[in-house]
Amino acid sequence: MAVSKCARLSGPLIQELLNSVDNFLFDCDGVIWRGDQAIPGAPEVINLLKKNGKRVFFVTNNSTKTREMYAEKMTKLGFQAKTEEVFGTAYCSAVFLKHIANLDGKVYLIGGNALSKEFQKVGIQTVGSGPDPVFGGQSDWADVPLDPEVKAVVVGFDEHFSYMKLTKALKYLDNANCLFVGTNTDTRLPLEGGRAVPGTGCLVRAVETAAQRKAQIIGKPSHFMFDCVVSEYGIDPARTVMVGDRLDTDILLGSNCGLKTLLTLTGVCHLDEATAHQESHCPERTGMVPDYYVETIADLLPALQG
Ligand code: PLP
Ligand code: CA
Repeated sequence: MAVSKCARLSGPLIQELLNSVDNFLFDCDGVIWRGDQAIPGAPEVINLLKKNGKRVFFVTNNSTKTREMYAEKMTKLGFQAKTEEVFGTAYCSAVFLKHIANLDGKVYLIGGNALSKEFQKVGIQTVGSGPDPVFGGQSDWADVPLDPEVKAVVVGFDEHFSYMKLTKALKYLDNANCLFVGTNTDTRLPLEGGRAVPGTGCLVRAVETAAQRKAQIIGKPSHFMFDCVVSEYGIDPARTVMVGDRLDTDILLGSNCGLKTLLTLTGVCHLDEATAHQESHCPERTGMVPDYYVETIADLLPALQG
C-alpha cells in the first residue's frame, strides 16, 4: 500500500518498513545520542537491528572525532559498534583527498586533531592546525609564509579559527590548482535550552567568501558520505533507510540518494518544519520531507522485541 510522505511510523507500518530495508544509516547527534548521553532505548534499538540481521552505519557531519573515537564513544554508551561502521566527515574527507582527488602534497588544515589523524592514516601530512600567533597589521598579512608543498585547503570545525588562518587559506586558494574542501556546512550547533553555537558552515563560508571560490563539501546532504558507504559495502539504496533529526542535511541526503527517510524528533527539527516543506509544494523543498517520522527511535523497540 502506498503511504503518503511524512507518515507517523507506528503500528504495522514499523514492521512494513523493517521488512522493506536491509540497511540503516543513523545520524548521531540528536538521533542516537545528545551530547554525551545516549537517547533512552537507542542502544537497544541498534543492537536489536543488528541481531535481526540488519546492517547499521553511523553517518555524522561532526569532524571532531576519528572513526576509532566514535566507536569508543558508542561502546561506552552501550551501542555495539565497529570502527568500520562509522562514516564521519574527518574519515570521509581523508577518503576524498586520497582516493578521489589523488592528492599529492600537504593539506593546509583549518580543523582539529581528528582530521589530521585521519589524514595521517592515509599518508597525507597537514600544516596549520592549532592556534596561530596573533599578528600585527596589514604589512604582516602580505608576508604570511606559505608551504610550497600544500596542495589542498580543508576547513572543518576549528575552535582556533582566526583572521590569520583565513588569510593563509586565501593565499593558498589564490592558486587555482589548490583543492578546496569543506567538511560540512551545518550553520549552528544547537545546545540544550534553545541555545546554539556557530557550526562549521560559518567557517567554510568565511573562507569561501575570502577566497571567492566554492568548497567541495564532504558532509550531508552531499551524496559523497553515502558514496563512501556504498563503495565499502555495496549496499542497495532502495533497501536502505536514512534516520536523522535534521531536514536540510540528513533527510535531504536520503532523498538525494534514493533512500527511504525517517525523521526523529529527539534532535533539532520539529514536525511542523517538515509539514511546512510538504505543504509548500515547492520542488526545491520536497527533498526535505521525510517518508516517516517517530518521536524517538525507541519507538521501533516493540517491533524489534516482538
Ligand atoms: N559538527 C560538530 C562540530 C558537532 O559538534 C555536531 C554535533 O554535535 C555536528 C557537526 C552535527 O553532527 P551530526 O551530523 O551527528 O548531527
Ligand atoms: Ca544530527
